[in-house]
Amino acid sequence: MQIDEIENAFFSAFVNPILRRVVGFLDYDCPEDGNMLIKSLRVFLGQNVTLCDRCKAVYENLAKPLYEIGSKLLRVDKGFMRHQFLEDQYGEAWLRGFALMMRGVKKYGIKIPFVPAAPFLIVWNYTYKCNLKCKHCYENAGRSRKYELSTDEAKQAIDILSRLAGVGLPALSFSGGEPLAREDFFDIVSYAKKRIPYLSLASNGTLITKDNAKGLRDAGIDYVEISLDGASAATHDWFRGIPGAFERTMEGIKNCIEEGIDTCIATVVHRQNLAEIEKILNLADELGVRFMHFNYIPTGRAKAHLELDLTPKERLHVLHLIGNKIIDLYLRSKEEELKFGKSNVKVDRFFSTCPQYASITKELSHEKGETFMVEAHYAAKKGVENVANFLGGCGAGRLYCAIEPNGDIKPCVFFPTNEETVLGNILKDDFEEIWDNHPLLWKLRIREKLKTYEVNGKIVGCGACPDKYICGGCRARAYSYFNGDVTAPDIGCIRNEELWNLIINVKANE
Ligand code: SF4
Ligand code: SF4
Repeated sequence: MQIDEIENAFFSAFVNPILRRVVGFLDYDCPEDGNMLIKSLRVFLGQNVTLCDRCKAVYENLAKPLYEIGSKLLRVDKGFMRHQFLEDQYGEAWLRGFALMMRGVKKYGIKIPFVPAAPFLIVWNYTYKCNLKCKHCYENAGRSRKYELSTDEAKQAIDILSRLAGVGLPALSFSGGEPLAREDFFDIVSYAKKRIPYLSLASNGTLITKDNAKGLRDAGIDYVEISLDGASAATHDWFRGIPGAFERTMEGIKNCIEEGIDTCIATVVHRQNLAEIEKILNLADELGVRFMHFNYIPTGRAKAHLELDLTPKERLHVLHLIGNKIIDLYLRSKEEELKFGKSNVKVDRFFSTCPQYASITKELSHEKGETFMVEAHYAAKKGVENVANFLGGCGAGRLYCAIEPNGDIKPCVFFPTNEETVLGNILKDDFEEIWDNHPLLWKLRIREKLKTYEVNGKIVGCGACPDKYICGGCRARAYSYFNGDVTAPDIGCIRNEELWNLIINVKANE
């Protein structure tokens, strides 16, 4: 039995009955001071906030001791928290995340990994329409005539999201299809910006002209992720299905950079572009943008191209390349901090959507005598290693979920859309009811449910893995390779290589 499993049993028997009540006492709306959860955190972090007599007493006797103990147990740096919550331009998103985490503790108790009362991030596939024909498209997008939410309905959906769990969604990402293919896109972004603190866009970049890049910035997009699937036009255009796409995508990237938007090159790494990955990484370096490695997940149109999926060894090679890049940045920043007291090196620049990136970066940094780790697709912040098991790797249906263009809710964009995976509809159903109770979500959230297999006398599978609490394997890949079993192993991981060999052989002989 792993230590996290023992801790979970301990939490549920002894800690949660008390902790849930304490957080419950703290979570009230004062007519003078507003919500005490958020107010008390501001006071704890040193903000000059006045409290009425009742709130003052609650703060001194309940909130302060709770935060003192919690931050010591998790070894959270108070200075870091102060910066992120009070000084950072996205402080409001962090505060919402904190309130959702606390409301999650009140509802479900503390767990490893933890479950907030609503997701921190929703990826909204805003349209089925797209001007490209990518081989791997999870949405099967194109010249779609399928029903999508109208502009008014999309605004209603944003209103609902802005009130999730009585707190509101911290971050919303628009994806697709190609979001810019819808004429109302800028109107919707402006509407969302007034209600949700952090907005991002995933785009193929071909429609991001200079004017559109300015429009994105003015409407309030904080971060743009542009897909580039090759360092050459031949490779990119072959994968994206339209000649000339490469050039327009590169222009889109440059236009975003010129507008000062936080920009990222996103690459689905597969067997046909693997040889170009280092060139793409160098390009990201030269342009000073972020890089996101997208895992190949056989869903949507990608299901017909299983042969493109990387072997576990190839995937490990890619994760090492990216991992070494981010660890170098981390070491440079640490050195500067030691020398000058602060550093301007931007560390959080090289990521992967493979949840095993946490396990790989942990190993690579240990080899250098460090404890640095990159968690849950994005978190490369100071101190993440102390809470990595609480963040828990794959966040599908836990830290994050997806909305389809027609409003249907799914655990992750990479799950196929069917009766089993559609949890409800954002306009027709009660999101909170789904989030609290849907059996598929609870299957995804509990690492103890992950399966193991015996292959050639060896026990393999995410269920037996010592890193399952910081990784958990990609549940969408498990769903795809094991015909809908979300507790099955992620066979793209080097630790499950025996299963990969077995399954690929079976598929080849089908
Ligand atoms: S075996 Fe599963 S849980 Fe362990 S590192 Fe690999 S993908 Fe992650
Ligand atoms: S299932 Fe999990 S790891 Fe896979 S893409 Fe979705 S959120 Fe990421």
